[in-house]
Amino acid sequence: MLERVPLLEKNLADYETVVGAETIEQIKALAEPLKGARILHINATAYGGGVAELLATHIPLLQSLGINAEWQVMHGSDEFFAVTKAIHNGLQGADVKWTADMARIYLEKVLDNALLLEGGWDYIVAHDPQPAAILSLAGNSGLISNTTKWIWRCHIDLTAANEEVWDFLLPHVQRYDASVFTMPEFVPASLGMERVTIAPPCIDPLSVKNLEFPDAFVTEICKQYGIDTTRTIMCQVSRYDPWKDPVGVIDAFRIVREQVPDAQLVLAGSMATDDPEGFQVWEQVEQARGQDRDIHLLSNIQQVGNVQINAFQRAADVVVQKSIREGFGLTVSEGLWKGRPVIGGRAGGIVLQIRDGDNGYLVDTIEECAQRTIELLADPDRADKMGASGKEHVRNNFLSTRELVDWLGLFGSLAN
Ligand code: UDP
Repeated sequence: MLERVPLLEKNLADYETVVGAETIEQIKALAEPLKGARILHINATAYGGGVAELLATHIPLLQSLGINAEWQVMHGSDEFFAVTKAIHNGLQGADVKWTADMARIYLEKVLDNALLLEGGWDYIVAHDPQPAAILSLAGNSGLISNTTKWIWRCHIDLTAANEEVWDFLLPHVQRYDASVFTMPEFVPASLGMERVTIAPPCIDPLSVKNLEFPDAFVTEICKQYGIDTTRTIMCQVSRYDPWKDPVGVIDAFRIVREQVPDAQLVLAGSMATDDPEGFQVWEQVEQARGQDRDIHLLSNIQQVGNVQINAFQRAADVVVQKSIREGFGLTVSEGLWKGRPVIGGRAGGIVLQIRDGDNGYLVDTIEECAQRTIELLADPDRADKMGASGKEHVRNNFLSTRELVDWLGLFGSLAN
């Protein structure tokens, strides 16, 4: 069997205070015919990045509805994750040279995992490219029942996908009974839209990362990391990944500081186990920071976990997510949910979350990012109003309960 991820218990009823009784009843009604169903989600990492974040809430909520849901993680290796990161980058539009050797490394490792799969599932959901070929390799092995419904969840923006990489992946993902994307724009014409469901990601308002914290607690946590909450704070939380443009954020911060001399920048990014680029990018960011003591470079290596991320986002005057490419960007909803305005790169799912000028700003350049930040810092009342509007936008569109409605609907529509 693949590695099973241990999960906390969650109770759907607890969400009534956030989303109201009607939504809870709607979810229960959708789940009723699925009671006892066996659902397996497979991805590549139990920690770091948005997919792990989503599954840590989605699976316990399915369980609280009487569904036998599980989350299992693939086994990988350094060379496998180097290839899957190249696939990921290629799918986001990077100029990747795809070779037969890469294909072999990928397929061999997915086959190893396919052979570890146990049967008896009503639904198997594979997330992103890492396990995508598992259906081709396990589907006819006799290990998996042929009544199992297979769903591919693609979290990546494929609008500019590298052709060679996509051509390799396409025959594997075409075999799925359905696929789920964040936005219709992400779906390649070659895949066809008939079996595609659009279901953007979401955040869990009751998770440690998003729960309300008292101000004194936020101040104390920040203090532990040398961050002064009496001074201005600009904050970006994301993996150390070139597409998240952490060096661009430092450049924007330096422009901001010319106008706002007391400003500090908090860059917090975890190192995901399936992301070998993280340490390399960390070094580039460290170099860009130099000796600047107002730039706080933090990661899970300094014990930055969900509590700290929550505190940093709450303490921020402005939250930034200056991505150049983005699947969804959970950190945008996380910032908005904390009542902060968010300045985000005009990329992928960020445009669903930021309503330009209403709850934040969409930007295309470092200069624009800096100017919008300066503008918001000069008018804290307006920043608060934008943050409040953002919170309602998230409540209505990007909470775990909405995602449950989408997925229960999809499972129901695929039922035998
Ligand atoms: N995250 C975290 N610690 C960090 C950096 C990121 O917990 O040091 C979380 C972040 O809060 C968010 C997720 O990782 O919940 C990142 O998801 P997003 O969709 O923004 O980006 P992805 O990493 O999936 O590209």
